[in-house]
Formats: sequence, structure tokens, C-alpha cells
Amino acid sequence: MSSPKRLYEMIKRLGYPENIAKAFGEILREIFLHSSVEDAYSDRALLSYKARGFYSTSSQPSLMAEFMRSVNLSEGMRVLEIGGGTGYNAAVMSRIVGNNGIIVSMEYEKELCTLAKENMKRLSVDNVRIVNSDGYHGYPDLAPYDVIFVTVGIDEIPGFWIEQLSDGGRIIAPMNLKSVSFYQPAVLFEKDGDFLNGIYRSATNFIVASGMLGNLNERLLEKFRRCESPLDRIDMLERSMPILEIMTSSIGKLSMEYFFVDGGCSSIYRDGEWLVCGECQRLIRAIKSLRRADFPDLISSRFSFNSDKSEFFVERLY
Ligand code: SAH
Repeated sequence: MSSPKRLYEMIKRLGYPENIAKAFGEILREIFLHSSVEDAYSDRALLSYKARGFYSTSSQPSLMAEFMRSVNLSEGMRVLEIGGGTGYNAAVMSRIVGNNGIIVSMEYEKELCTLAKENMKRLSVDNVRIVNSDGYHGYPDLAPYDVIFVTVGIDEIPGFWIEQLSDGGRIIAPMNLKSVSFYQPAVLFEKDGDFLNGIYRSATNFIVASGMLGNLNERLLEKFRRCESPLDRIDMLERSMPILEIMTSSIGKLSMEYFFVDGGCSSIYRDGEWLVCGECQRLIRAIKSLRRADFPDLISSRFSFNSDKSEFFVERLY
């Protein structure tokens, strides 16, 4: 069988709710793809566009169903999708939220947006708005959103998203930790007043974001270069915390130096030792857990985005 019905049955068999399976059963995936029609209704991530310098893929249907269930996607919701590609996932989600809801689908590449718009027209989908822009800034015009649905690997959760997310709203996002692991942990966040609670869901493998969602290391490196003394660098890291404190604990590499950032700690590995600003215990825990390879000490973390700078101290770890 080579029709959306095949995906309906597969999603159903895997135990996902009827509204999610039904939506997959209603959208012709083949028109969104660059690959053969035969593959279109298999549970595989498939190439949807290829050009010089970039490409896009339609994500694996069962993983999208998993993301949709994790954010409890339902009728009437306002959703911000980051990484819209040629629009398949947005079209599926549009069926779930229905005419009382809306999908704002942000895509970095102009050509993909043109294609996505054509695809929506072909399928008479009119509750999806395609926006050609870097998803980093979100889309305040239609905020607040109940869900931010990220289908591209990102370095951090930008503050703009938190501002545009309703209280109790959810974000599902694959976080880039590629410097330490091949896979990206998909983390489910829920906004609770001043907190964003993050729970690790599954290991994934998405395209790494372009633009501001994928250049955190470069931005930090640039800032580092501008600092003259080590003390300035520490100061810089502390001042960077407002943008970094909400991101998942992350170890990255800046030229030859490693750095670590999370809500309570930022540090640099230099000359064989870690120079830590903040809570050493967090760094020790992070390194131990990352060494165990598959990052699941993210399983249940609480990231404060109103950190109290007065608790910061500097210490050496041997
Ligand atoms: N949801 C899509 C899958 C897209 S793959 C689908 O159903 O087909 C990831 C997409 O994210 C790519 O098309 C890529 O161009 C886009 N992307 C990369 N960086 C981005 C950014 N900063 N903002 C918005 N989109 C981005």
C-alpha cells in the first residue's frame, strides 16, 4: 500500500492517539518530498529538498507522532514550528489543531518557504502561516503559543521563545550536543511561572540549525576573543549567563578550549584544569554523566532563567 493510510495504520499500531494517526492519514506526504513516491509512506526520514549548500528532510513520522503526543497537541492550539522545511509536518499538525488553531511555521531558507506555501495551496491547508526567518527570534505577532515544536537541532532555547510561550506551554526540541555525542537529546520543556522544567525524552538525529540557533559556540568564541585577561573572560561568561542560563547543560569546544555552561555554572578547560564560575558539583556531575555516553542525566532537570548572580564563585577543579 502506498498511500497516507499506511502511515495512519502504522501510527495507530504504535499506540498513538486517534487524532494524531488520523492527521497522518489525511496528508499526502509524497508531494513534500524529493525522494521516490514508494518511500513516502514508510516510517523513514526522507530528503525533501536539495540545493547547493543546503538540504532539508521530512522527519521520521513516528518520531513526529512522539513529539506531538509529548506536547499533547490538540484542537484549537497555537503552535510555533521551528524548521518548517517543505511543510509536511506543519500540514499534519494543521489537521490536529483544526480551524480554531494555527501553525506558524518558521523556515530559514527562502526557497523552502516558497515550496511550502505552494504545497499548502495544493492541499487547501489554510491554517498554516509560513514565515521565512531565523526561528531564533520566534514570531511575536501571533504569540502567545501553546506549543513550540522544534524540528531542527538547536544550541539553546532563546529567551524570545520563553516570552512568546504561554504559562503551562510546552517546547519539544532536539538539543545539539554534537561535540560530545552524535545524537541530540530531545528535551520536553514546560513553562511554569519563572521556570522552564526540562525532561529528557529520546535520542534523535536532526539537521543542525543554521543562523542564530546553531552558532552559539561561534558567538561565544567571538566574545572570548574580545576579552583580554582571564578575569575579563570569567566576567564575560557571567554576563553571558542571561542568554545561556536557560539552555540545556552543554559542553562545547571553542578552538582548543572546552567550556561548560548551565544554569548554575560556566567554566573553561585550559592547561589541563577547569576554571569554574559557579557550582563545581554541576560540572562534575555533567562530565560524569556525559562520559557515560548517552547524556540521560538530563532526565529531569530544572533550569531557572532568573538566576541569582550573587551565588557565583570561582574555584579550580583538579
Ligand atoms: N519540519 C520539516 C523538517 C525540516 S528539517 C518537515 O516536516 O519537512 C529542518 C529545517 O530547519 C531545514 O529545512 C532547515 O533549513 C531549517 N532551519 C535550519 N536552521 C533554521 C533556523 N535558524 N530557523 C528556522 N529554520 C531553520
